[in-house]
Amino acid sequence: MNISTSQALFEKAQHFIPGGVNSPVRAFRAVGGSPVFIKSAKGPYVYDEDDNEYIELINSWGPMILGHGHELIQKAVSDAIQHSFSFGAPTRREVEIAELITTMVPSIEKVRMVNSGTEATMSAIRVARGFTGRDKIIKFEGCYHGHGDSFLIAAGSGAVTFGTPDSPGVTKGVANDTLTAPYNDLDAVQKLVDANKGHIAALILEPVVGNMGCVLPAEGFLEGLRKICDEEGIVFIFDEVMTGFRLSKGGAQERFGIKPDLTTLGKIIGGGMPVGAYGGKAEIMNWVSPLGPVYQAGTLSGNPIAMAAGLTMLNYLNEHPEVYTQLELSGHKLVNGFTNSIKKLGLNYTINSIGSMYTLFFTDQAVTDFPSAKSSNLPLFGKYFHAMLDRGIYMGPSQFESMFLSTALEDGHIERIIEANEESLKEVIG
Ligand code: PLP
Repeated sequence: MNISTSQALFEKAQHFIPGGVNSPVRAFRAVGGSPVFIKSAKGPYVYDEDDNEYIELINSWGPMILGHGHELIQKAVSDAIQHSFSFGAPTRREVEIAELITTMVPSIEKVRMVNSGTEATMSAIRVARGFTGRDKIIKFEGCYHGHGDSFLIAAGSGAVTFGTPDSPGVTKGVANDTLTAPYNDLDAVQKLVDANKGHIAALILEPVVGNMGCVLPAEGFLEGLRKICDEEGIVFIFDEVMTGFRLSKGGAQERFGIKPDLTTLGKIIGGGMPVGAYGGKAEIMNWVSPLGPVYQAGTLSGNPIAMAAGLTMLNYLNEHPEVYTQLELSGHKLVNGFTNSIKKLGLNYTINSIGSMYTLFFTDQAVTDFPSAKSSNLPLFGKYFHAMLDRGIYMGPSQFESMFLSTALEDGHIERIIEANEESLKEVIG
């Protein structure tokens, strides 16, 4: 495959941008080789600067649920830009999208728009701290909640890919206020809570993890956490930046029937534009300025173009339940195909999946937490990644990522992915 234009761009980029990229995982360090530079995308395909075509499994890390360049969203954006790009003032669409979010995600009574998932999680814990008057938070090893200081402790996604789950630059004071527990380990959480009675403001987690690869909550885990938070007056936060509006109309919380106190959202609510949001119980959200004393603001928050894209996307999802039927079906077909190939090749690798999210782990162990995710054969995954890329399949360039399907994938695409997977596995295991 010719990727010479991408290679030249990457070479040049490294002179001007740290590592040549604006977000670390894009540099392909975890899988080796040179990243492909994307020029355009439509439906289920992305195209690189050398005009290679790939079937999309990243989908901008989640938001392109309807595939790329959906006509309704394109139209909404092009209509919106006729009225300028930013006002820094309230607009009608912000009210409409807030109302829609509260309808689709019933645990959210009030919601505040921000510009990224990172802002959403940072703001959510600030409100939780203000509301409870406590300082400490609990997070889980391998969960990623963006690059806010408090979360770069045992973090997943790019942070673990680059071997810096605990980043330099985070002060000891901040790090001391973040307690970590192994995912799916209720006893460990209970011990942390007992040892820090009255000091824990919030417990935050990905209700389904996307950032150590796809990892599901064990039976009773989310219920157990809800109970502990209720007993201890801890604000229970679901980070649904990846799962929101994807695992169901109401996100993971609807799927598992658990109501968090606060929810953080991102990506998806902008239909691909830079957006995030946090929301939840009115009694907590009423602490946010200007109603309450917890300060949080943003010049570009609720940006009119992003709101136009997001509102159109969410309205579509709200009115088309068949989107979720299709995503489930596509997920099932793909995972069944992968499972058959793995068996056929005499392998015992683990596939974790739910709805339209999945990860094939290069390990024989069940993957239920961060240590089991890390038991994967990472060099082999790197080879597999490139074998898939060579066959025109564009995957997340790390073992510690989930793939995301879109409704633009038809049966033919899914068959091509299954075939490419089998051929790639054969190639790398020799
Ligand atoms: N939370 C989760 C669960 C995420 O997956 C991410 C990003 O991938 C974030 C927060 C941070 O979002 P952003 O990259 O928009 O800052």
